Amino acid sequence: MSNFVSIIFCGNCKSRYVEISDWTSDGKAIVKCRSCNNREVISNFTLGRAKIGSAEIQNARDTMAKRGKYEK
Ligand SMILES: [Zn+2]
Repeated sequence: MSNFVSIIFCGNCKSRYVEISDWTSDGKAIVKCRSCNNREVISNFTLGRAKIGSAEIQNARDTMAKRGKYEK
């Protein structure tokens, strides 16, 4: 049985090294790319971590959602 996960990639540099770096005073997560320091605030989602292999990372890159193109 496999488990489905989504990976957040940086919208600026496509890096997978995205993490929550801090929280705003009103409880929103500040998501940061460790590769290029791109930052953005999200309010109703959070992130988890799991160790996955290179094949799964590549599969996530190959199915990366793009504007105007539906992904599920
Ligand atoms: Zn980046």
